[in-house]
Amino acid sequence: MSEELHIDGSEGEGGGQILRTSFALAAHLGRTLRVSKIRAGRPKPGLRRQHLTCVRAIAQLCGGSLRGDDIDSSELFFEPGAVAAGEYHFSVGTAGSACLVFQTVLWPLLFANGDSRVVFEGGTHNPFAPPFDFIERAFLPIVKRMGADVSVHLERPGFMPAGGGRFVAEIAGGCTLSPIDLCETKPIVSRRATALVANLPGTIAIRELREIRNLLQWKNEECLPRVTQDDGGPGNVLLLEVAREDVSEVASVIGIRSLPAEDVAAIGAAAINKYLGGDVPVSECLADQLVIPFALAGGGSYRTSAPSEHTTTNIDVVKRFCDVEITQAEHAAATTLSFSRE
Ligand code: ATP
Repeated sequence: MSEELHIDGSEGEGGGQILRTSFALAAHLGRTLRVSKIRAGRPKPGLRRQHLTCVRAIAQLCGGSLRGDDIDSSELFFEPGAVAAGEYHFSVGTAGSACLVFQTVLWPLLFANGDSRVVFEGGTHNPFAPPFDFIERAFLPIVKRMGADVSVHLERPGFMPAGGGRFVAEIAGGCTLSPIDLCETKPIVSRRATALVANLPGTIAIRELREIRNLLQWKNEECLPRVTQDDGGPGNVLLLEVAREDVSEVASVIGIRSLPAEDVAAIGAAAINKYLGGDVPVSECLADQLVIPFALAGGGSYRTSAPSEHTTTNIDVVKRFCDVEITQAEHAAATTLSFSRE
């Protein structure tokens, strides 16, 4: 058994990411772990369904021992075993984000001795979590450029409160991640607005996209409605994608009942304009999500806006596990994060 590493879940941002990063790296690196004061920075601290699914998934794929895994629990003890590639099925059981479960199990499975096929169920388009499309079109393309062989396929979207979303990930094991640099703001090669409407009137998508054309002057052919009807719950998300030569951003707004379609579009337009106005390749959310792969690659750099508390907290947690030096250089409103082996 390795020496126990203690992570204080109340530090920095004090949210669920501390837990997910800790468990993913503990399984991958074979570190015995205790996490205390879990999500102490949140109004309802302790484990919620999504976090519980993440830590149980990690324990399952490495045959590890886990104690304290109950709803509301504020302390977990984890002793990992050897990660086994294979077929897995992880279901949140509520509308909690299945995308965050994917981002947790991805790292140990990428380095496992074999290929995995994993089914994820729960929310696929949640507020305050990466929507499926962000994973597929912004996050994974970077991880793939670093050397990973991963694909995801959405079978059914899932929204709050019903959940019921489902996607499948194919993850090739035996990965070596190589450093890359994302510091230049390269030209935009394509734009795409997608209004996804599930089990609700298609006019919502038409109105959102009409307003996007008004506000952003995006062309008709860049604006696509995607209306689905199935036996799942209702939901709507507006996705605004800007693809540069080497990196994409997908801004998203989850439509809610009290928000007119035109307001959903206005919030989305403001979000993508904020990214474009920042003149940096890597968006604020992508920046905190790239800390793990760059640390595991032991090199590379990227330029982003002023780092969020999520990013600085994730850096602090990752440094507890990996021998990596992470420096921040600020120029004007931008920051370059550089990674190197210590
Ligand atoms: P908690 O309830 O404790 O806040 P959580 O487990 O839901 O926890 P966080 O710790 O807040 O989540 O982490 C949320 C993650 O979701 C971060 O990596 C953040 O970058 C990402 N995220 C949030 N909103 C978006 C978005 N609109 N697009 C892409 N990623 C997002």
